[in-house]
Amino acid sequence: DSSSVAVKSEVQGEKKPADEDDKDDKAAQSLLNKLIRSNLVSNTNQVEVLQKDPNSPLYSVKSFEELRLKPQLLNGVYGMGFNRPSKIQETALPMMLAEPPQNLIAQSQSGTGKTAAFVLAMLSHVEPNNKYPQCLCVSPTYELALQTGKVIEQMGKQYEEVKLVYAIRGNKLPRGTKLHEQIVIGTPGTMLDWCSKFKFIDPKKIKVFVLDEADVMIATQGHQDQSIRIQRMLPENCQMLLFSATFEETVWNFAQRIVPEPNIIKLKREEETLDTIKQYYVLCNSREEKFQALCNIYGAITIAQAMVFCHTRKTAGWLAGELSREGHQVALLSGEMQVEQRAAVIDRFRNGKEKVLVTTNVCARGIDVEQVSVVINFDLPVDRDGNPDNETYLHRIGRTGRFGKRGLAINMVDSKSSMNILTRIQEHFSKNIEKLDTDDLDEIE
Ligand code: ADP
Repeated sequence: DSSSVAVKSEVQGEKKPADEDDKDDKAAQSLLNKLIRSNLVSNTNQVEVLQKDPNSPLYSVKSFEELRLKPQLLNGVYGMGFNRPSKIQETALPMMLAEPPQNLIAQSQSGTGKTAAFVLAMLSHVEPNNKYPQCLCVSPTYELALQTGKVIEQMGKQYEEVKLVYAIRGNKLPRGTKLHEQIVIGTPGTMLDWCSKFKFIDPKKIKVFVLDEADVMIATQGHQDQSIRIQRMLPENCQMLLFSATFEETVWNFAQRIVPEPNIIKLKREEETLDTIKQYYVLCNSREEKFQALCNIYGAITIAQAMVFCHTRKTAGWLAGELSREGHQVALLSGEMQVEQRAAVIDRFRNGKEKVLVTTNVCARGIDVEQVSVVINFDLPVDRDGNPDNETYLHRIGRTGRFGKRGLAINMVDSKSSMNILTRIQEHFSKNIEKLDTDDLDEIE
């Protein structure tokens, strides 16, 4: 049962190097976003396209019908409630379904429809009467592989001849097994073993190779090498597809080693702005005073839903406890929780079961909770050197064009140094942050 799987389990009790932490963090965040995401992230930017052959016509589709999918698959797509292709799918799908198949590197933030796109491509290319693996898909972790597997199962629900198998640690097959499932999804190490050491899969018969979450993948050194070794065993005419949410230099170098002669498509994240946000600060002398100030504004902020950010887990835990003691209903999101638990907390908050979510900077990084209209910085965001973390400030408080509802941000200041941070944030964005007197709240109400 995948829903009980804990992301942390594989590393418990071991001391990990820093980059392992980072990798866990990235994989966990990605999983969390998948677990809580129930629809597409809207994006009004243009898709940038770089074609391998700039002379070949560039198709983009506005409907799934135009793709001439098998009826079972078209039904599968509609059965998932998709009415039309997402922005990235409009361009990616015709490229992936073209004859001859084209290689693709695609980048767009999580929630824009990449998984659905490559799942549809794999299902379209499978020859159901051939009872051997034809599509390989590698993901950075077991849990992420399971999530993608679920999408394959859902979309392929009416395509019963097509079967799926997981190449993941723990799934042990007898020696000499030859797989008859058409799609294999798994992590790089086991996938490589199944292709080379155990020969459960004949790599020469693979038609589509998908590498998902390339940015998470390269955070683990071994994964990069294993993926490249799998790729080298595949036939030259195998379609290579690579997806990533972000695209730093290192991801890009890796992508080019996996995907020869690629088409490249990118969809930039929508810009965030502070224009529609009212920003305030509250001057206090201690943590306790900050807590008192928060209690004073509590009634005003819980008209809407509010997120409260603290610098450490300890402060977040303390604050959530104190607020509960005052009789307030609050949710706590903490890094100590397993991913599944965190997803459940976010889900309850999104459904309005709790009005206030207390969390840490690290824990909430990369999570989009669109309907939050009040953000409280119980501690201001700072980086490791204690400098203002402007990017986090913007991401936490800012809005994108589409969700340009008015918002409210309240920053708690309790020392000279935090006042200094606030001043620098204010200067960075050239946006005034007004002083708020929490004994006189007419202003924010
Ligand atoms: P990504 O892989 O980029 O994170 P997903 O493919 O997981 O994005 O899609 C994000 C969410 O949007 C999922 O809940 C998915 O079911 C949904 N979705 C994907 N494509 C469409 C579409 N064309 N129409 C409506 N919803 C979609």
